[in-house]
Amino acid sequence: VPVERIRNFSIIAHIDHGKSTLADQLLLKTGTVAARDMVAAASSRRPPVLSMSFSPEYPGRIGEEQFMDSNEIERERGITIKLNTARMKYRSKRDGELYALNLIDTPGHVDFTYEVSRSLAACEGALLVVDASQGVEAQTLANVWLALENDLEVIPVLNKIDLPGADPDRVVREIEDIIGLDCSNILKVSAKMGIGIEETLEAIVSRVPAPRNTTADPLRALIFDSYYDPYRGVVCQFKVMDGKVSRGDVVQMMNTGKEYQLDEIGVLAPHKVQVDTLYCGEVGYLAAQIKSVQDARVGDTVTQKKQPAATPLPGYQDIQPMVYCGLFPTDTDDYQDLREALEKLQLNDAALKFEPEVNNAMGFGFRCGFLGLLHMEIVQERLEREYNLDLITTAPTVVYRCKTTDGEEFQVNSPADLPDASRREWISEPYVRLEMVTPTDYVGNLMELANGRRGEFVEMRYLTDSRTTLVFNIPLAEVVTDYFDQLKSRSKGYASMEYKITGYRENDLVKLEVKINGEPADPLSVICHRDNAYRTGRQLTSKLKELIPRQMFRVPIQACIGTKVVASEAIAPYRKDVLAKCYGGDISRKKKLLQKQAEGKKRMKALGKVEVPQEAFMAILKID
Ligand code: GDP
Ligand code: MG
Repeated sequence: VPVERIRNFSIIAHIDHGKSTLADQLLLKTGTVAARDMVAAASSRRPPVLSMSFSPEYPGRIGEEQFMDSNEIERERGITIKLNTARMKYRSKRDGELYALNLIDTPGHVDFTYEVSRSLAACEGALLVVDASQGVEAQTLANVWLALENDLEVIPVLNKIDLPGADPDRVVREIEDIIGLDCSNILKVSAKMGIGIEETLEAIVSRVPAPRNTTADPLRALIFDSYYDPYRGVVCQFKVMDGKVSRGDVVQMMNTGKEYQLDEIGVLAPHKVQVDTLYCGEVGYLAAQIKSVQDARVGDTVTQKKQPAATPLPGYQDIQPMVYCGLFPTDTDDYQDLREALEKLQLNDAALKFEPEVNNAMGFGFRCGFLGLLHMEIVQERLEREYNLDLITTAPTVVYRCKTTDGEEFQVNSPADLPDASRREWISEPYVRLEMVTPTDYVGNLMELANGRRGEFVEMRYLTDSRTTLVFNIPLAEVVTDYFDQLKSRSKGYASMEYKITGYRENDLVKLEVKINGEPADPLSVICHRDNAYRTGRQLTSKLKELIPRQMFRVPIQACIGTKVVASEAIAPYRKDVLAKCYGGDISRKKKLLQKQAEGKKRMKALGKVEVPQEAFMAILKID
């Protein structure tokens, strides 16, 4: 297919507005995936399962198995983390010509904004799918701005027009007012009923621009996704922006400097189809026995070693973790296994960082860095499910920066690493620009929420008479905890949010040290603002009192700043005699209780003489 007849596009949608359902319909309509395969996939688990979630590890295998494998967590959570593309062939009704439509999927979570921006950079257009019964949401907005920044042609699509609650006129007004897109000939679609699918394909052909024709230029290919395959090494998905690339070529990654000879190149249709050469405008994959995704990073530019491009493509970032936590095996014997599991995950996850952490309370473990809380939870779940490890996770903290009085400046990933107040010149913390979109009725509730979390009001915009955007500058530490849950509960589930890191700011932050039974319990300590230290200390100690089971002896719990105690509680002693409840010879009940107790034991760590359960390490996330 000549470059004039290539269309590269992605689909932008708020979660549940129908991105995956529409993607499936496009694949069906173009005959890219047969209905029977789609059904097999859909019946395997939580419906509707989407062909676009085909495990990138095994894009060639369409069937139940793969859905049970690596994408289980993503599916359960209804989000996409690893990207995938699908090349569709479509004969346009307009001119009777055959077009290649490349659908490039994007991850659907704020933790992965960088990946979203790189995959959008590989497109010339995007379908903006908006649920006609809901309207424009924060996540939609954030991704639309990203698409517009990348000069994409954005085509609005009203989905779910079959719903009785659909209000196309109101939603069209929202799209026009807020985003400023012309909606005069908006696509009206029901992805579920298969209405408007052909019109959508025609719109892609006629409205998304063809890629620029720069075949004569030196090769520049943008990597927008990479994953580790045990047989081929890292497989990168990329778009040829300029020039061409062939199997056997020796290429260089312009940002990491690594060089490889290409073993294999091809397209995803959506299973792998090998080809000899890919030309500018085309989207495909490459494999070259690359050892780790660290060596073939998202956003890097592939060029020919013989005839390199002068400059790499713009937009490359070495992504840094924003959130850290400690991961400790409940059984110290599992330390090596945990290290090996983390190393394996890292082959496939350029954003995951870890370093050994030793703690006299917790033993040997790792301090791990993540893009955000979702990323953290996913890694944790993988370690537990796929590697069968029992872990204690300590509360996540953001990355602080600090300068000591002897002029040393460094990054603080753990409250334990924060120097004493007397040795500190300053400490700063990351800030985000937080955008909340809400029905106007909940504006008051959400203002209160953001104000209570040290938010600084920036602006309020009425999108329509009934919907409002609130913008705040707010410390990342305040939004990575339970902010999203609070937003949902204070808006009856109707508000949505999105944020972007804007920079660091000095603040009067202190380390709130927790002592259990008189001994410092570093894994429970937190960094907080001095103004909130008393309140946080009181809430934290009382939450800990609730979460730590009674012991045979009285257990004092204290929160201190330096030597000063700001809050204290005590757990009364208790004789743990669960079997006392069992009368007579009810053996099975007895067994059950013992078993329960043993399971409860698993997720415990002894801090001094006190057994502390996993939930207590997360107590800080549960206070207001
Ligand atoms: P995504 O999160 O954007 O990928 O959304 P999904 O494609 O998973 O769809 C979310 C839910 O909306 C699913 O239950 C779909 O069956 C449903 N859905 C998607 N499109 C339509 C539609 O056109 N009409 C109706 N009534 N439901 C739809
Ligand atoms: Mg989806």
